[in-house]
Amino acid sequence: MKKFNVPNIYRSSLISAVKNKRKESDKLKKDFTPTLLDFGPIRIYLARHFGFCYGVENAIEIAFRTIEENQGKRIFLLSEMIHNPQVNADLIQRGVRFLQDTKGNFLINFDELTADDVVIVPAFGTTLAIEAKLNAIGIKTEKYNTTCPFVEKVWNRSEQIAKKGYSIVVHGKPTHEETRATFSHSAANTPTVVVNDMKETVELAKYITGEKSAAEFYTEFKGRYSENFDVEKDLGRIGVVNQTTMLANDTQAISDYLKQQMIQHYGLNADNLDERFADTRDTLCYATNDNQTAVYELLTTDANLAIVVGGYNSSNTSHLVELCEEKLPTYYINSADKILSDKEILHYNFHTKQELHSVNYLTDKRPLKVLITSGASCPDAVVESVIRKLISFYKIEKTVEEIINSIK
Ligand code: SF4
Repeated sequence: MKKFNVPNIYRSSLISAVKNKRKESDKLKKDFTPTLLDFGPIRIYLARHFGFCYGVENAIEIAFRTIEENQGKRIFLLSEMIHNPQVNADLIQRGVRFLQDTKGNFLINFDELTADDVVIVPAFGTTLAIEAKLNAIGIKTEKYNTTCPFVEKVWNRSEQIAKKGYSIVVHGKPTHEETRATFSHSAANTPTVVVNDMKETVELAKYITGEKSAAEFYTEFKGRYSENFDVEKDLGRIGVVNQTTMLANDTQAISDYLKQQMIQHYGLNADNLDERFADTRDTLCYATNDNQTAVYELLTTDANLAIVVGGYNSSNTSHLVELCEEKLPTYYINSADKILSDKEILHYNFHTKQELHSVNYLTDKRPLKVLITSGASCPDAVVESVIRKLISFYKIEKTVEEIINSIK
């Protein structure tokens, strides 16, 4: 895979040593078992895959290059480039300003922009409407476009399906930048509707089977369907694509459910299924798949707690938390500073969107076994600082440097 020029501040000698070693001995990425860092009284189990993905490294490289190449110019980001507080703070500190918040609310009016300004499109991509707006001002969006190729792959797949006359069901968080961008690109080609989860999918399916009246659809899915969506006609031939960072199993279940409803309602079989349902198995992002599979494997360890590191608004990170918290006490933190001491920790509850304060999060078990993973937009340096903070509470038998040397 391509190597990117990412600032060293985001790298970690410990994590790089672990990742390189694992890559060397498992070139085909078949082994998802975690890596054990044994410090004696505390054992850290690191997921096989975590941290910066292709799309994030690509976006960071372009953003920092844009700053270098455009000294003296005003540089804007359409919104957070990736959902990571450290990276976004670094960009702001270098003079980059955000045009919108993560929900698409304007922080700076587009009227203030001129053709001389530079606007960076984030890794999630953007809507065709915003692209057109910027182009009308004279700003070339393609030059500093960090849209991840795996997001573009979903757009391309939607377009292919659209050309065959299918409508699109997008499984994604309706207000997330990527889902808004995917919706926009898909809706330009074919009728499109967004579902957030299985509960909404079950309701959507009732319009396929006729269990619910068409009129209800426009209220129930308000703001989620494309212009002129005809619920009586446009759900007769569908394909499912997803926001690339959803839970792989959830998208699969949603797709399977809709497929089953189509089979039952239209009396389809394996030979004629594609008359009404498009096969879209391949729209999941590789990093989401790898990180989630690695967490399933991580969870086979009999551990005492899990720490998941990443931005609080990071979709892929929250899904890793979701998997961990089903099995053991899980703490979602965005930096080592959230570990206040060996007794107290600040951590995020993404269900209630609140930061909580917990005590006695480290049990008296010896050795204490801690599972650690991080989201696709979290720098490895942050994970290393979390590990260093944790081990600082123990009389460790090996230092981080000794562990690094033993890995090399
Ligand atoms: S998580 Fe996947 S789709 Fe998102 S930026 Fe990374 S590689 Fe691209």
